[in-house]
Amino acid sequence: MSLNPRLENLDADDQTGDMPYNAVETIIRKREGDRLDDDQIRWLIDAYTKGGIADEQMSALAMAVLFQGLDDHELSVWTDAMIQSGERLDFTGLSRFAVDKHSTGGVGDKITLILAPLVAACGAAVPQLSGRGLGHTGGTLDKMEAIPGWHADLTDDEMRHQLETVGAVICAAGADLCPADKKLYALRDVTGTVESIPLICSSIMSKKIAEGASGLVLDVKVGSGAFMKTLERARELATRLVSLGKAADVATVALLTDMSTPLGMTAGNALEVAEAVEVLAGGGPADVVELTLALAREMTALAGLDVDPADVLASGQAMDKWRAMVRAQGGDPNATLPVARYSEALFAPVTGCITSIDAYDVGVAAWRLGAGRARKEDPVQAGAGVLLHAKPGDHVTQGDVLMTLHTDTPERLDDAKAIITGAVTIGDGPAPARPMVLDRIA
Ligand code: URA
Repeated sequence: MSLNPRLENLDADDQTGDMPYNAVETIIRKREGDRLDDDQIRWLIDAYTKGGIADEQMSALAMAVLFQGLDDHELSVWTDAMIQSGERLDFTGLSRFAVDKHSTGGVGDKITLILAPLVAACGAAVPQLSGRGLGHTGGTLDKMEAIPGWHADLTDDEMRHQLETVGAVICAAGADLCPADKKLYALRDVTGTVESIPLICSSIMSKKIAEGASGLVLDVKVGSGAFMKTLERARELATRLVSLGKAADVATVALLTDMSTPLGMTAGNALEVAEAVEVLAGGGPADVVELTLALAREMTALAGLDVDPADVLASGQAMDKWRAMVRAQGGDPNATLPVARYSEALFAPVTGCITSIDAYDVGVAAWRLGAGRARKEDPVQAGAGVLLHAKPGDHVTQGDVLMTLHTDTPERLDDAKAIITGAVTIGDGPAPARPMVLDRIA
């Protein structure tokens, strides 16, 4: 029986195929907090992918899921239906164990650029199918595209060849991988429904399972610059992500990591590539090195490799892999990176100790300067972004340079300054200590 008497009178035409479901009843059922049938979820995802359900109906359903949630069983069926919407890659034939990393997104997060060649140098295969940035968080492909000549599009055969010969690949996911997620994520982005834990879980894990790696390490970010602002929400997200991975026979571990402060000293595409190269060369900011090594240790453990990634990083082998990876995709690892045409320094208004730098504000400022995009078809500026000169815990004297803003379009500077001026807090005492890795869920 329908939950809504008016639905009893729906035309047979309102129903799709042989399934006894229709979009309005599905929305109402979830809106009322009831469980969806397995077949109903599979019908819904399939019909939406094929254009049989309108965007406005799927938006209403996404909002109903945001408020009412999906239980574990609904979530696993929903995720599987998203995987079934496209192709599934299989790397089990590779000579090395394929292990992947996924970050839920943060500010200054250039870890993939260092981690992929590092873990390849340790002996695993690292297929990193990545995305472009949207909103205040940067995207790995936008960063890599700052390297002159580098291209993101590879065929499945080219990707497999690069994994065998180099050991790591960062590239764009093909159009056939989880088309349901491509459509649904774009819709969520413009309907205020990104922050639903089950929708984030099904979006991330459908892509990661379809990508075919045997092991997966999740970097679940917590703090102002992340989707998950509290440890409690991040723990719930990580727990559900890990159980979806395990149920799909992917060895999965999650680290909960701090995203209250930007990672490293840079937010912006070419600025972040330069910082990643510094780490590969044996230098770079301590927080970037610490997080890269923590994730690399998890990945090598899943791959069954008895190596210390810190030794491999220090040996220069990760840098060799990076150069090979860049070259294999048309890039020139020796090329000068793009530099923005305009820059402006911001100074410490008082003397004291930096107690916090808000990651979200820095991310939004970098985005406004041109490093990010508001709509997925917008271009990004390779050289735009924010360079920090000090981090929480550092002592500054009034008039010291705190950060430099970079852009090709100087009319954006005032907007970015308005956002970033309040991002830095300077106090008397030391900054509260906050570890980089906050928890581990396995
Ligand atoms: N990243 C994804 O891939 N999907 C989400 O829903 C959120 C973050």
